[in-house]
This record gives sequence, C-alpha cells and structure tokens, in this order.
Amino acid sequence: MICDICKKRVFGVTWQSDADGTVALCRECGQELQSTLDRVDVQLSRIGTMDNLLAEILAVAKKITRSDMGNIQLVDRDGVLRITVHDGFADEFLAFFSEVKESEAACGTALKTRQTIVVEDVERSPLFVGTPALKIMLNAGARAVQSTPIFSRSGELIGIFSTHYRQPRQIDTHTVRLLGFLAAQAGRYIERLTVAS
Ligand SMILES: [Zn+2]
Repeated sequence: MICDICKKRVFGVTWQSDADGTVALCRECGQELQSTLDRVDVQLSRIGTMDNLLAEILAVAKKITRSDMGNIQLVDRDGVLRITVHDGFADEFLAFFSEVKESEAACGTALKTRQTIVVEDVERSPLFVGTPALKIMLNAGARAVQSTPIFSRSGELIGIFSTHYRQPRQIDTHTVRLLGFLAAQAGRYIERLTVAS
C-alpha cells in the first residue's frame, strides 16, 4: 500500500475513512492529518467564520499536496462561482476569476461536470488554450491546476476547491484522492457553519 500523503510504500496502513471520502495513509501521516482536522474542528466551534475555516482547509491542502497556490469558490444563488478564500494570487487573477460561470476554465468545468478536473499543463489544455484565461494563469505563475467539486450531504454542489502549481505536473490518483477527501471535509464544515448561522 502507498500512503496518499508521503507516497511511501508502507505496511499496516491506517485507513482514514468516513462516508464522504477515503484516503490511505501511513500511521504518521494519518495522525498528523487527524490532529490538523481536529484543530480546524475546534476553530469551527470557536471562531466560526466561513473565511477562517476555508482558509484552514486550504492551508492543509497546500501543505499535504505541495501545491503553490489555491482557492475555494462558493456557488452563489445565481449559479456563479465566487472566490471565498485564496492563497498566493494577485489582483489580476482575483479580478478575472471573481465570477466564473459553468464550463469556464478548470473550476467552471468542474462545476458543470461535477467531477474533479485535472490540468497538468495549462499551455496544452483545450480548457485554456485560445481563451483569455490562459494569459491570466501564466501571469499568475500557475502552470497546472486541479479543481474538485464540494458537495453538501444531500449532493448539492456548493463550491469548488482548486489548487495550483508553478510547474506543469502530473497530479496522481493519490493526490486526487486526498483533495477529494479534503473537499468532503470542507463541505461538512460549510454545512455546519451554514446551519449554525
Ligand atoms: Zn505517509
């Protein structure tokens, strides 16, 4: 078995699983992820603002998947994606992607297909080539990106969770599984917070 976080081949892997997603982790990575999520949980009860919580999720994702930048967008009532938290982006990127509709770029495609979209090199992807989004991505130093949908328990798509990379890179199945797991956690936090407020 290979650990989804450290990618080491290990025996006696601990499976961290719940109804929303499953990851295969070694003992060390499993304990670290659990303690991090426990800390976010405590924050949820104490601080309870959406921005803080989603920023924490983004920080965890950045660390364990070694991404350089990222953002979480929530779906507005009108079906448009709006950036709620971000890490590592300048004004041009934030202005361009401030409102994304279905099928636009990686995040809009994830919104439409309800699946994780992986772009290993934006310069070679039909999602970006020939679109104004390509220049914005390159200016932002983002060569690769993945976008994962965030669902509520009832299956409603409530947001998109994206991580970006400065170099073209393969985003393997281990990483996709981890990001799916984190997106599921984000969905639970968003729902709990929405119910509480
Ligand atoms: Zn590990």
